[in-house]
Amino acid sequence: MRRSVETLIVGGGFAGLLTASRIPGAVVFEENPHVGIPPHCTGLVSERTVDLIGSPAKESMIARYRSIVVERLKGGEIVNLVPDQDVVKLDRVLLEKILETEAINQGSAIYTKARVLGISNNSIVVSSKHGVHRYTGSLVVIAEGSQQKFSRSLGLVRKPELLVGIQGFAKTHGGLDEEEIYVFVDDEIFRDFFGWLIPLDSRTALVGMATCLRDTNNRRLGLFLRILYKRKILAESVLTKMYGGLVVRGSPLEKHYTGSIVAVGDASNFTKPFSGGGLYPSSVQIGTLASKLRRYEPMEALIRYASEIRDYVKSLKRQLAITRIIEKLGIERTLLMLSRLGILRSTESFNYDYHDKSLYTKLKKLIGIRS
Ligand SMILES: Cc1cc2nc3c(=O)[nH]c(=O)nc-3n(C[C@H](O)[C@H](O)[C@H](O)COP(=O)(O)OP(=O)(O)OC[C@H]3O[C@@H](n4cnc5c(N)ncnc54)[C@H](O)[C@@H]3O)c2cc1C
Repeated sequence: MRRSVETLIVGGGFAGLLTASRIPGAVVFEENPHVGIPPHCTGLVSERTVDLIGSPAKESMIARYRSIVVERLKGGEIVNLVPDQDVVKLDRVLLEKILETEAINQGSAIYTKARVLGISNNSIVVSSKHGVHRYTGSLVVIAEGSQQKFSRSLGLVRKPELLVGIQGFAKTHGGLDEEEIYVFVDDEIFRDFFGWLIPLDSRTALVGMATCLRDTNNRRLGLFLRILYKRKILAESVLTKMYGGLVVRGSPLEKHYTGSIVAVGDASNFTKPFSGGGLYPSSVQIGTLASKLRRYEPMEALIRYASEIRDYVKSLKRQLAITRIIEKLGIERTLLMLSRLGILRSTESFNYDYHDKSLYTKLKKLIGIRS
């Protein structure tokens, strides 16, 4: 391994690999033996995100959906949201493999089974089969995901609310519209999140849910599946090939860099707070960062990056504030109220990436009516 490089990247998940594919000559250190594993993400993104990621996303597209049916888990449609663009499902493992190849083609290197033990301004300490070594570089990118060990200790991120997401494959009874995603709300079972069912073909779906870390997940998941089974949506109340992980719900700090160290992706709370979706926010973030790094020295690039990303950070903060209000009122209760009062209508277009645009005016109307 070269011990002195331009950019050192901690973590070879989506954010680390996307960064390495955009900054030639970077070196990624990933503790797992392969990129893309263990899988955790559902892989739903807007077409806007596909455009931002480019060919790796286009090559890993496996399905396309034109609307999101929001239902009460116990039955009853609340709203059928039509996003402003189709929602696309990506094969997330394949996406990371393609990003890895693209990064290598750009002259970057990916080292797996390489765990970063420590970070200082221009260097990192890595443990691998070659032993423990220090690597120096002019920029360190922290892309360690929801662990946030380094980004938190360096003060680059505020502690987020962590949710546990779990999903797996289920047999359906058929009859579901394969171009619709189903979102189930229930303030008892999911509390601050929701359940989802994504048809993959006429008889199979990816079914999952997330809840707060403190809630016991297995019992709630069992209940969720039994209700879908009783409602004759699922043919069995079991999931196979289950996988999942931590969903980050927080807001980024305006200054998520220090010296020549910057945090990206889940490590910096760049997720859409309502859904935990991180691929769009990371793509915006890394696109902006890489464009500055290609033109300026790291310190100058970070200052210019921070100024350009500021408005998007504000949008994520607004999204978090809205999410907190909805959480407090209850997601099911809020959506029901919005729908019954005619504030949330099926026919209206819905912005999949900017929940502040879609929900802010609606919540304002609701609060106005209630007060
Ligand atoms: C259940 C679930 C469903 C989701 N669904 C969606 C969705 O549909 N759409 C969407 O946009 N987003 C979704 N997300 C969120 C999305 O998966 C994340 O935002 C995204 O994966 C974040 O990428 P990342 O690279 O920042 O972090 P990660 O993908 O977590 O990658 C971090 C990497 O860093 C490595 N690492 C950590 N510490 C070290 C260390 N010290 N040394 C070396 N390596 C290290 C880890 O092994 C890991 O590979 C979902 C998340 C979950 C949990």
